[in-house]
Formats: sequence, C-alpha cells, structure tokens
Amino acid sequence: MVTPMMQQYETAKATCGDAILLFRMGDFYELFHEDARVAAAALGLTLTSRDKSENPVPMAGFPHHQLDSYLAKLIKAGFRVAVCEQVENPATAKGLVRREVTQIVSPGTVTDQSILDPTVSNYLCAVAYPRRASEKVYELGVAWVELSTGQFAATVVEAARFGDLAERLSPSEILVAESNFNELQTNGLSGAVTRRPDWSFGSKRAYETLQKKFQVASLDGFGFEAQDELAIQAAAAIVDYLNETQTGSLEHIVRLAPYRSSQFVEIDQATWRSLEVTRTIRNNDRQGSLFGVIDRCATPMGSRLLGQWFASPLRSVSEIEARLDAVQELADSSRLRDELRTELKRIFDLERVIGRIVAGRASPRDLRQIANSLAVIPAVKAKLSKGQSGRIRKLADELDLCHELRDQLGTALIDECPLLVGSGGFIRTGFDARLDHLRELAQGGKQWIAAYQQKIIADTGISSLKVGFNRVFGYYIEVTNLHQTKVPDSFIRKQTLKNVERYITPELKEYEEQVLTADEQAIELEQALFLDLRELARSFAARLKGTADVLAQADLLSSLAQLAIQQKYVRPNIFDDREIEIIDGRHPVLDIIQPLGAFVPNSTMMNDEAGWIHLITGPNMAGKSTYIRQVALITLLAQIGSFVPARSARIGLVDRIFARVGASDELSKGQSTFMVEMTETARILNTATENSLVVLDEIGRGTSTYDGVSLAWAILEFLHEHLPCRTLFATHYHELTELERTFSGVRNYNVHVKEWEDKIIFLHKIVPGAADKSYGIHVARLAGVPEWVNRRAQQILDNLQTTENGPQSGKLARAGNGRSGGQLQLTLFEVTDHPLLEKIKRIDTNQMTPLNALETISAWQHELNRKEVAARK
Ligand code: ADP
Repeated sequence: MVTPMMQQYETAKATCGDAILLFRMGDFYELFHEDARVAAAALGLTLTSRDKSENPVPMAGFPHHQLDSYLAKLIKAGFRVAVCEQVENPATAKGLVRREVTQIVSPGTVTDQSILDPTVSNYLCAVAYPRRASEKVYELGVAWVELSTGQFAATVVEAARFGDLAERLSPSEILVAESNFNELQTNGLSGAVTRRPDWSFGSKRAYETLQKKFQVASLDGFGFEAQDELAIQAAAAIVDYLNETQTGSLEHIVRLAPYRSSQFVEIDQATWRSLEVTRTIRNNDRQGSLFGVIDRCATPMGSRLLGQWFASPLRSVSEIEARLDAVQELADSSRLRDELRTELKRIFDLERVIGRIVAGRASPRDLRQIANSLAVIPAVKAKLSKGQSGRIRKLADELDLCHELRDQLGTALIDECPLLVGSGGFIRTGFDARLDHLRELAQGGKQWIAAYQQKIIADTGISSLKVGFNRVFGYYIEVTNLHQTKVPDSFIRKQTLKNVERYITPELKEYEEQVLTADEQAIELEQALFLDLRELARSFAARLKGTADVLAQADLLSSLAQLAIQQKYVRPNIFDDREIEIIDGRHPVLDIIQPLGAFVPNSTMMNDEAGWIHLITGPNMAGKSTYIRQVALITLLAQIGSFVPARSARIGLVDRIFARVGASDELSKGQSTFMVEMTETARILNTATENSLVVLDEIGRGTSTYDGVSLAWAILEFLHEHLPCRTLFATHYHELTELERTFSGVRNYNVHVKEWEDKIIFLHKIVPGAADKSYGIHVARLAGVPEWVNRRAQQILDNLQTTENGPQSGKLARAGNGRSGGQLQLTLFEVTDHPLLEKIKRIDTNQMTPLNALETISAWQHELNRKEVAARK
C-alpha cells in the first residue's frame, strides 16, 4: 500500500527526469530508492529503509541546513539534482503538506559561488547531430553557454573534431538528443551527459526558440548563415533546457556569437593536453600548467578571459597587434599599469553576480558588492582614458559606468550587508520614509518599555522587577516570589515558574503590539524594497555584462603586461610568413618554476637556411622535450597577444599547432597504446598545412626499434616532401640523423652534454649537429654499470650497425664485431636473391652446345672472382 506521501514523492520524481530528487520532509531532505543508493555512496550517508516490513524502500537523508554542502558535492560528482520543497507552512496546512520541485541544478547550470571555481568558465554544452549521422564524414552543431556570466556561442564542426573543441571548453555538462546518445563520443571528457528529448533539437523549432529568446526577426544579425543550421539547433536546445530548469530569467544572455574556427589557431585535444595549457598531464592540476604560471589577473573575470584566449588564439596579424599594442603600453607605463591594477583589485566578480541576479538569487551582499564595484569604475575609466593605444581607448569608451544603478544601490544599502534577506536591517536610514517610520515605531516601543519598567519599579517598590520578552508570551513583567505580596491587582498573572511569576498589563500589551507589528512590517517592507533593487539590477543585466567584459579585458591586458615586466618577456614581432626566429627563448613554465637564472635559454631558427625540420637528438633528460615544447608555447603566447619569454622573437603566424608525445611516455597513464600514437600521427599528417607547427616527441617509440625508426623516418620524409610545415622532432633514434644528408630542409641539432670527473652534466643547450651516437653506453659507463656489460653492449651495438637485415636475436648474440666466427650460414631452405642464381634459372639447356656450357661456367667463375676481390678491398 503506497502512502499519500510516497505518492506525492512519485509525482515529484516523475517531473524531474534523471535528476536525483531531494525530498523535504520536516527538518530533513530525504532520498528514496535508487537515488538513496547513489547518494549514500556519493555523500557517505547511511542507507536505511522506510517501511521495513513488507516492501522496504531504501532511504537516506540529511538535515535541511546542510543542503548547500550536499548539493555542491552531488553537482561536483556530476549529478543533476532536483530539490522538492514544502511550499506550505506545515503548522497551518490541512492534511498533507503541499510540495513542489523548486529547482533543478546540474553541473552545467550551477551559478553558486560555493561550487564554481571563480577562475574557470563553467560551460553547459549541447551537441546537435545531423539527421543522417551514419555517413562517414559529417558535421555536428555545438553550442555552449556560461550561465553565470551569460557568454553564449555556437558553431558547426566536423564530427571528428568535436573532441578537440570539447577539450578546450571542458564543459561540465553536455546535452544530447536521446537518439544520439550512443553516438556522442565524449572522448574521456569529464562532463556529465544529459539526454534530452529529440524534439528539443528540432530544426524549425530552433529558429523560433532563438528568435523568441532574443526578440529578433532573424538570426542574421548575429552573423549566422544558412549552413549554420546545426549550430542553431544546438543553441536552441540549450535555451530550451534553461527555460525548463531555471526559475529566473535569462536576460544576461544577450547574444549568440558564431564561433568560426577558421579565425583561430586550431589546437586539438592531444596537443592541448600535451602542451599542458590549462592542466598538467601528471596531476590534471592547474598549478604547473601554462595558465597556472602566467595568470596575474586581479579579478576572476580576467582569469576566465585568459582561459578563453588560450582556447582560441588569433590568426590575424592586425588583431594580435592590437592586443600587443595595449600590452606594450601597459608594460611601458608602470604608473598606468599599477594604478589600473590597484583599482581592478577592488572590483568584485561582476560578471558572475549577474547570473545570480537574473536567477533571482542575488543576496543583499551581492547588490552591495555591485555598488562597491561600480563605485570604483569611474577611476578605472579615468585611467583607461589616459591610454594611447586603440584597444585601451576603445575600452575606455565602452566602459559603461551604470551610474543610475550605482547611485540607487549605494544610497539604499548599508556598507556591510548580510547574506540573507530574512532578518532585514540592510537598508540605510533615510532611503525610504515608510521604513524609517516603522523602525522608529519599533524603536520607540522599545524605549517606552524601558521607561515603563522604571515606572512600575517606582510604583511597586520592587527593585528587582524586570520586563522581559519571549516568543510565546511576548512582553511580560517578572517578579520573584519574595515580592509577590507587593504585586498590585492591575497585574494579570500569565505564567508561574519555579521562583518567579510572570504578569502582563493592558498597557504593556498595547505597546507590545506596536513594537512587534512595526518590527514585522519593517522587515516586510525591507524585503519588498530589496526585491525592487534586485529588479532594478536585473534591468541592468545586459549593461552590466558589457561593463564586465570591458573590465575583464582591461584586467587581462594589464596582467599580461605585469607578466612581461616581472618575467622579462619581449614583444614578439609577428607576420604572415613561415619563418621563426627566437633568440634565447625560455620555456614559460620552467622559466618561472625554476630558481632565477637556472633555466638555460635556447634559440630557434626556422628558415630556408636553418631548415624547416629540426631533428633533435640527445640522451634522456637532456632537455629535448622541454625545448621543442618551448617553441610551441612561445608561438601560442604570441598568438594570444602576449609578450614571450625570449630575448627577441620573430614569429611567422601558425594556423595549427600539433604536439604529440610518443606512446611509451604516456604508458604510465595506462591508456596510451601504439595505436593511439599512430592515430594521432595520422591526424597530423592528414590535417597539417604548410603553415602549421608540428612538435613531435619520440614518435615511433611505442613499437620495436626497427619498426619505430622506419616509421619515424617515413613520417619525417613525408613531412619534408609533401607537407613542408615547421617541425621539431625530438628523438633518441640516432639513425634518423642521416636524413639531413638526403633532405635539404632537415637539420640536425642535439642537446649538449658534458662530462666532468665521473659525472655527466646536462647543459640543456641546443647545438647544431647530431648527438654522439654511443651516448647510451657512454652514460652507462659513467653511471658505474660494470665494465663487462659496457663492453658487451658496445659489441652488440657494432653488430647492429653492420648488419643490414635486422636485429634477429641470433645475430645480436654473435661475438665480436661480426668478423670472427659469426658469419651467417646459408641454409638449404633460405631463399637468397643472387644474380647468378637468376642467370642459372634462365638457361635453356636444350639450346646449349657443350662448348657454350663450358664458356658460361667460365664466365660465372670470372664474375664470382671479381666480386670477391672487390669485397676484400
Ligand atoms: P628529454 O626530453 O631530453 O628527456 P626533458 O626536456 O624532459 O628531457 O628535460 C629533463 C629535465 O631537464 C627537465 O625536467 C628540466 O628540469 C631540465 N631542463 C630541461 N631543459 C632545461 C633548460 N633549458 N634549462 C634548465 N633545465 C632544463
């Protein structure tokens, strides 16, 4: 038998799809059935059961005041959560208390400060599939929104490249149509996947949804074209989902921006990870990544924008120059930079508070912080107006002071506002006459009561008499038993306690009424005033968003300038060509992490003379990987508009950056195989253009030596012959250094290593030429490996180098260098291609005279003798 309460539960559960339902029951939130099991495991709650007798229902719960922390944990674990509240006062409700789902929170739609990392954008993404996704090559529509800030964009990408885009966006939730759920390749992304009904992605509906959302007749104004239909569908699916799950408005989402990948440097998933742009490979940590070391932003808005710039480096010289000009100006003028940064530090995360305002969840403190931040903005504008560069002047012009809002919030709210609206007390005196009056009344009542206490003490002569207050009885007069005889008849007995009696009087009751109602009315009025203020702030959402955008840019540009000064970066000279000339470049991360001066700078030249394909050899730990990544990172920094760690840099802009690490380096992660390595390499060879930069680290290492060398060789040859892109190839295959002889664009470099006493010193210096090939054995000797092993290793190496047919174990094991007793035996079954055998095969004995036969044999003998003599020489 299902109880009415459980029926209510089931009804609520049916409205919230796959979300976990937190069901308010009195002072607890309870979870039932599968939700209880899942949440008990994720939250460490005790799993019990309701109705233990016949059909036990699994159940778990927690006290209501812990909602925020449990909600945060569930969201972080990737769940969607619905909260079902009691929407009636249980004390006055007749029968079962009415309950409703009041919010559905998911990883992509949270806007709570306590859950979000302030420096990282939190994206909700939607993927729209074409009707016939079964074809081999097809495109996807992808849209993404940052609900807390209102950033909203959409694009169409080749399905195979979705993973790259998703890697850079790193969405915390991905929406997909029910019927495409299986096709969605999340490629190891950590985001939660939410299935949506197919109709939510429908094409016709999509245009209507967006036109309605943005109140426009067509989406052309945003720059979308006919071929962007899938992008529009994905964007509409997001709007649909938000309309369904968000109680507040979406006013801060003011436009949908088309994302055109051709305008940005393409960086695929493997490259993004391998270059550790935002997270390290080892710990998946922000600390130690490129972002982690260069972010000097004064506000979280600036940091999030840096993340966006990294995800979409520019390809246009003029756009990059515009950013560089601004960075240069701020770097040159320490005064402007310092003043600006000082002001910016006082600015609150305006962008994210907008999300809370439109969601109807901004607190009095949030509004106060908006007022405080807006109060700083005129100073920011004044500083920016002093700027000369186009970008800074533009920011100054565009900075909207929103002064009407600032004035109103500033005069309305006290300086230290509470987080909660409930107890009032945050509206300034003088702001609203009605409120002041009520407060005076309440205050006046309190003063009257104090005076009244004095008066009755005097009248009765009971000096210990007190006027007190409690919630049940309101105001009362308390007299100890000792003085009961002195109590006048006009006192009405209300309560008897152990040593005291409590009384009331008609006069006291009258004032009590006045005090309490005035207090209550004041709080109610304050709440109404607060809602008006929040409504006002909401009407400023779009303008505040514009202001926040300008502040984020000003912050990021001055942070890049600060970085340039602190770390001695230089302005790169950028141009549309293929040359690269970096003098004394440094790896941006190691340069900062290592003690000052410890990092050894290296120069890089890529041009006709210095070659386009650089092959870097050297022992392990010499610094090969560091060097080749440094070139990619410097290029990336230059193309986001940053100065770079070098003495000087000339960078021919790249259209794509590829970076790959050979399989064995990643084996520790347990996921990489040679197949992955080759799939990734295939992608480079198929998609790189002559304007790309390719950085390959130990490619070919995931298979046997000979396979590996051959593949690496062929890959380099292909790059040279068919795809002359700028390539840095680090390898320990010494054999590859031969390529330099055959291919004009290939140059050998190696990392200089020095011996000193019995140690090897890694100088980390890249020098022209191939590395000493016996390096491994050399190092082993220095490291103290027994001499016998070293000698034997040398013999084996010699054998390998003199044997053309491959490293069969029999040949490796031969003693010496192959001359003494180790010659190959020709066996009867071994097929050998000798020219003489070919001639013998072709003889037609039926046509031969005996003399012919003798002559032929003599010619063979002669030929064999000649070859033997030549071989001995
Ligand atoms: P390889 O790829 O040749 O095995 P790495 O590039 O991984 O070597 O470098 C090994 C270590 O050497 C790095 O972790 C770093 O500590 C140090 N290193 C590399 N390059 C430099 C440099 N230019 N200056 C100072 N230390 C360096």
